[in-house]
This record gives sequence, structure tokens and C-alpha cells, in this order.
Amino acid sequence: MSKFQILVVEDDAPVRNLITMTLKAHEYRFMVAANGTEAVMETASHNPDIILLDLGLPDIDGVEVIRRIRCWSNVPIIVISARSEDSDKIDALDAGADDYLTKPFSVEELLARLRVTQRRLVLMNGNSGGQAVFVNGQLRIDYVSGCAYLNDEEMHLTPIEYKLLCLLAQNTGKVLTHKFITQSVWGSSWENDVGSLRVFMAMLRKKLEKSPGSPQYIQTHIGIGYRMVKIEGE
Ligand code: CA
Repeated sequence: MSKFQILVVEDDAPVRNLITMTLKAHEYRFMVAANGTEAVMETASHNPDIILLDLGLPDIDGVEVIRRIRCWSNVPIIVISARSEDSDKIDALDAGADDYLTKPFSVEELLARLRVTQRRLVLMNGNSGGQAVFVNGQLRIDYVSGCAYLNDEEMHLTPIEYKLLCLLAQNTGKVLTHKFITQSVWGSSWENDVGSLRVFMAMLRKKLEKSPGSPQYIQTHIGIGYRMVKIEGE
């Protein structure tokens, strides 16, 4: 764990201290920035592995910080926002954030999000050669033949369901917003047609999940979007 370096961007000193104390206790390396300008500078000069970014910063807006960093870096960014900033959260995800934490959050939540992001990092690094086969738990996607398998049985997916599944798989660990998904799968004319997306997602889950009521592979983020979860114990 200790090889991961975290950049903590938070202007609120008590919250910042809570985060850094937690990181220290779990042997993460970290550095801090108290505003957006510092965050961009620290990222450029120290190349952290993960950024924890408060959205409400005194100088530049957190979403703008993400846009600037995304010009040159794919470093995973977990945004931290107050519950009242739900639309900011969606803007942040659309600007390229990977995940979010809502204030107030528990230490356990923070650590869980970091673990998800670390697994995503490992996955991203392992996939740098562009793998032809995706495996997650009992799910396997063969991108070359365009087939998906569950428990070694071919899944009978419509082209849209297959596209949806591939999009989620390629972004395992990352929260994808409704807007991002509809744009990627159908193009901008369907942008934010959340109702249709929900219908297609329900059909995909029926084929993928053992019990669609408590999904194992695809998490719902109410009002925000969906995420494919990395299945443990492979
Ligand atoms: Ca703040």
C-alpha cells in the first residue's frame, strides 16, 4: 500500500487533518494542497498516484482543477463534495473524475474508495497493451470475436447491450454518468435520456446478474450513473 502517493486537496483544515491522519495510519504517502492552484502545481511537479479533491475550493473551482489536470494526466481523481453539490459532482465526473465521496464521510468509506481506485490503477497499468479479452469474476468479454460469456456460457446480448457492457468493462472501477454513457452508446442525440438507459440497463442486468435486485457487477449510483465493480477473489 505504501507505494501509493496521494495528493490531498482540501481548504478546510479539520477535514484535511482527518484525511491525512487516516492516510498516515494506513501507511499511505501523501502531500497536501489547500487550493486549486496549488493542486495543479503539485500534480505537475510530483505526479501523485491518486488525487483526493474537494470541489469547493477558495480560488479555482474543483471541476476546473480536473479539466486542467486532464489536459496532460490520467491520474485517478476522487472528488469530495458536500451533499448540496450534487450537480457539481456530476460535472466533476463528466470532466474526468473517477469517483466521489460525499461529506460527511467515514474513514472506512475513504479507505474503501482508495482501494477501489488502487485496483483500477493496477487494472489500467495491466491493460496498457490493449488486451483482447476482459475478465471480471465469471464474466469474460472477447473483444475480437465480439462475444461475452458468463460462467463459460455465451451471453445473448443485443448490440446495444454488448456496447453498454463493453463501456462499463473498459471503465471498471470508475463511476460513469448517465450523460457519458448515453453519449458513448447512442451519440449526443440521446444525451441524458436516462429513462431509456435505465430500460437497457435492466435488460443487461437480467442477463448478467444472478439476482438483478442486488447486482454484483454493475452498481447503481442514484441520480448519477453506473459503475462496473471489480469482483474480488480471482
Ligand atoms: Ca472546501
